[in-house]
Amino acid sequence: TRVLLTGGSGFIAAHTLDFLLKHGYSVVTTVRNQEKVDNIRKVYPNVGKDKLDFVIVPDISDPSAFDKAVISDPPFEGVLHTASPFHFNVTDTKKDLIDPAVIGTTGILKAIKKSAPTVKRVVITSSFAAIINLTKGTWPEHTYSEADWNPITLEEAIVNPINGYRASKTFAEKAAWEFVEKEKPKFSIATINPPMVFGPVVHTIKSLDELNTSNERIRDALLGKMKDQIPDTGVCIWVDVRDVAAAHVAAMEVPDAANKRFFVTEGHFSNREICQIIRKNFPDYKNLPSDSTPGGDLPEGGVFKVNNTRSKDILGLKYKPLEACIVDTVKSLKPFGL
Ligand code: NDP
Repeated sequence: TRVLLTGGSGFIAAHTLDFLLKHGYSVVTTVRNQEKVDNIRKVYPNVGKDKLDFVIVPDISDPSAFDKAVISDPPFEGVLHTASPFHFNVTDTKKDLIDPAVIGTTGILKAIKKSAPTVKRVVITSSFAAIINLTKGTWPEHTYSEADWNPITLEEAIVNPINGYRASKTFAEKAAWEFVEKEKPKFSIATINPPMVFGPVVHTIKSLDELNTSNERIRDALLGKMKDQIPDTGVCIWVDVRDVAAAHVAAMEVPDAANKRFFVTEGHFSNREICQIIRKNFPDYKNLPSDSTPGGDLPEGGVFKVNNTRSKDILGLKYKPLEACIVDTVKSLKPFGL
């Protein structure tokens, strides 16, 4: 099966690419420049062009960015759209976050409808950011599921970059569902909605400064930044990146996944728990917080619950536990001098 994977240089995409290649798929992935092509090629020196090929797509905010990328010989049967900005270095929320997320999503859907009639399923990486309702706070009496939608508005989006990111994911996912409703394409879609994604770094980054956003807290703990005060956990639910990769591929393959959202999460975590896991498994790190260091707990009055049943029943996910994930992540950071 030939698959198009967007944003192949990213953290989640690198694991998805690996999963696809290990399971015999033929993959074309989009990256922003030739250097990223070369870096990924180096990871797979023995994989031929028939199994792994590239298209350079410099900026997904361009509405025609994917017009050529969706055309392939042999033709694509599935598309996994992961590319979207996930960082908070923003000067213009609309230009830097919302446009690439929304135009990237509608652009690829339009291009597939127009030029890739063999595509049966398009899986879009959405987020818990498109599910969470921030106006409800910790909401201990609520159980989040695929039924929930973030009610964020454009006005609220521009208040700060975190809101901007959450809005970008919400608006992009909404635009995808609207496209399906209005355009009635021949393909079906599915969205994967993960919360904080942790896991080993297998994508090619040159330094720790380029580390993907969701693994930053693990890096910061190792660097000693939590020694005196553990920061607030924030969104206190998580999932292993390898489970997210498996979810994308299952959502492309399983007939029953058509036109469904999938909330993929193992469950709760706290920054304190992450620090404890690192301390227990890597006694050599001397700059970690101790049991008496303040901060990093789950909210005292309790916090929302989660329902991940659909992801287990339909996608067959079996979630990796937090300890194994954090241990593998820390090991993967050692080559960067940590
Ligand atoms: P990364 O930053 O590692 O990956 C993002 C990818 O998108 C990169 O390949 C990046 O390319 C590409 N990209 C961003 N902006 C553009 C643009 N304007 N034009 C072309 N390509 C662009 O982050 P993740 O792997 O974590 O994120 C992947 C997806 O998962 C995103 O859709 C994100 O919203 C979603 N997600 C992530 C979560 C997490 O905790 N990690 C949680 C929930 C959802 P480059 O690096 O070359 O700029």
